[in-house]
Amino acid sequence: MLFYNAPEEDLQFLLFEVFRAPEHWQGAEETAHLDQALAQAIMTEGGRLASEVFCPLMQSGDAEGCRLEGGVVHTPSGFRAAYQAFAEGGWMSLAGDPNFGGQGMPKQLCVALEEMFFAANAGLYLYPALSAGACVLLAAHGSEAQKGLWLSPLYEGRFSGTMCLTEPHAGSDLSLLRTRAVPQPDGAYALSGSKIFITGGEHDLTENIVHFVLARTPDAAPGNRGLSLFLVPKILLEADGTLGARNGVAVGSIEHKMGIKGSATCVMNFDDAKGWLVGEEGRGLQAMFTMMNYERLSIGLQGLGTAELAYQNALAYARDRRQGRDPAGMSDADADSLLVHPDVRRMLLTQKAFNEGGRAFASYVAMMLDQARYGATPEVRDRAGRFAAFLTPIAKAFFTDRGLECCVLAQQVLGGHGYLAEWGLEQCVRDTRIAQIYEGTNGIQAMDLADRKTAREQGRTARELLATLRAETAGEEGPWAKEVEAAFAALEAATAALVQGAEGDAYFAGAVATDYLELVGLVLYGWLWQRMVQTAERAAAEGRVTPVFAAKKRATASFFMAKLLPKVQLLKTTLEAGSEPVMAASF
Ligand SMILES: Cc1cc2nc3c(=O)[nH]c(=O)nc-3n(C[C@H](O)[C@H](O)[C@H](O)COP(=O)(O)OP(=O)(O)OC[C@H]3O[C@@H](n4cnc5c(N)ncnc54)[C@H](O)[C@@H]3O)c2cc1C
Repeated sequence: MLFYNAPEEDLQFLLFEVFRAPEHWQGAEETAHLDQALAQAIMTEGGRLASEVFCPLMQSGDAEGCRLEGGVVHTPSGFRAAYQAFAEGGWMSLAGDPNFGGQGMPKQLCVALEEMFFAANAGLYLYPALSAGACVLLAAHGSEAQKGLWLSPLYEGRFSGTMCLTEPHAGSDLSLLRTRAVPQPDGAYALSGSKIFITGGEHDLTENIVHFVLARTPDAAPGNRGLSLFLVPKILLEADGTLGARNGVAVGSIEHKMGIKGSATCVMNFDDAKGWLVGEEGRGLQAMFTMMNYERLSIGLQGLGTAELAYQNALAYARDRRQGRDPAGMSDADADSLLVHPDVRRMLLTQKAFNEGGRAFASYVAMMLDQARYGATPEVRDRAGRFAAFLTPIAKAFFTDRGLECCVLAQQVLGGHGYLAEWGLEQCVRDTRIAQIYEGTNGIQAMDLADRKTAREQGRTARELLATLRAETAGEEGPWAKEVEAAFAALEAATAALVQGAEGDAYFAGAVATDYLELVGLVLYGWLWQRMVQTAERAAAEGRVTPVFAAKKRATASFFMAKLLPKVQLLKTTLEAGSEPVMAASF
């Protein structure tokens, strides 16, 4: 059976040593209520909930799945109680707006918890993860009246939220959406249409479900500019906020799918459903992007979390399992632990290096998101916002691609036993696969980065980020200075090649987008690994982390620098090959 231990020591190291987050928290009025002791206590409690309440339901939730009966979706046994514990513990409101009952915690703390909950049970955590994004959306774009009515029950976990974008003929291309929203005399709208693949569209965990729906008003412009955003509840509310009549929205069916079987993926039919405009008419997609960007980082954390779960279980297995002999060993045992075999060590170290690197990356992106909100000056906020926008597609795609890769490696460590359901590793592989697909496929993330956020702005943010990373490492006699500088130089050259290649070649950015995203991801991990080792060794010398912790960081970093970072040079070469090899072929 799968087990999960929250990586608390590593998370504390990142927050308190590498990024010195409490200094930032204390420096901003909005987050001054949070100090190290409180953050530590929150992480401990979150880790306990994840490992003791969420994780034990992971495999049973997969085996049982969701079932639709008489218009009601039943989640797997135990999910309701676990969700209740989550809601009653106040976890839904952690990042919420304090004016409406939220706790106003910074993103950098929240990502630590998101990783834990996703790791322990992605199928279950998807329900609150969608609700959290819906809250962020409503807090940013809702009217005061809408926020007053809907935010508190969402924060309390009594209501949950969904995002309703996809339609049968409109997936990546939202400009094709057809769901209609007709204005009504009372100021509301009547929505009609069908949405598919809606996560948590119907379930038995909450009293009510609040759908955020992209739809088109009758005289709307074609394409993305004609889309508006609507709040459509499953159950309408009376003026005092109590539950009223059932709205015209119902689940048509639920999907039978490869993984995350505890998460209900629903076809939702809107039949003159009553909805209210959120934000301005025609600016729905811009508003929805607030939720999409939130969820993109969140889904990245799903990939990272499941990879960590798989790693922990693969490592425990490798310690225990005895097969073959240490090639250089003289032990008396009939067979040695799998850990003596270089190839098994390669698989485990690849997972460890990507997971810990990814955790540091997530923390860095979250710090940028916090600085974009609470930074001391407009310049700081503006720059952090641009960095966060640049890094978000990388977090989504790089974490989830590495997530699948690492889950497959973890499965491989178990040999044939990894293929069996009882050990849970095959579930990790199945569960994590979707993270590469939904919330904008990884191909779409790569295009967002390479085209919109790099080529079209002449590489400005990429160069600015690179200058910042270089400035932060300048003058430090860090380990692997040569390797990291070579990676920086490759990024610089690849960015220039991308910008230049995209001029006059409409296919260039698309053809090299995934190479570019992978390259930037690896370079940032290289920078973070260097920084983690320097910080760990300083903290060990000053007695704040153990020498063993620092030594493990150095050993994993050595592996990353020698075996994974050099792939940057290969990616630069394939990027420079441009679009011709991709577009010349005919099918
Ligand atoms: C389990 C599950 C849960 C989901 N939850 C939700 C949800 O809660 N709400 C919601 O609205 N949707 C949800 N989705 C839908 C999901 O976001 C879409 O499946 C996804 O965005 C891709 O759309 P598509 O399936 O139509 O694929 P398509 O858009 O048809 O894409 C097919 C392939 O073509 C590529 N492609 C398409 N266009 C381009 C382009 N311009 N450039 C480069 N490559 C391109 C894609 O990368 C992909 O590889 C969910 C899907 C699943 C399976």
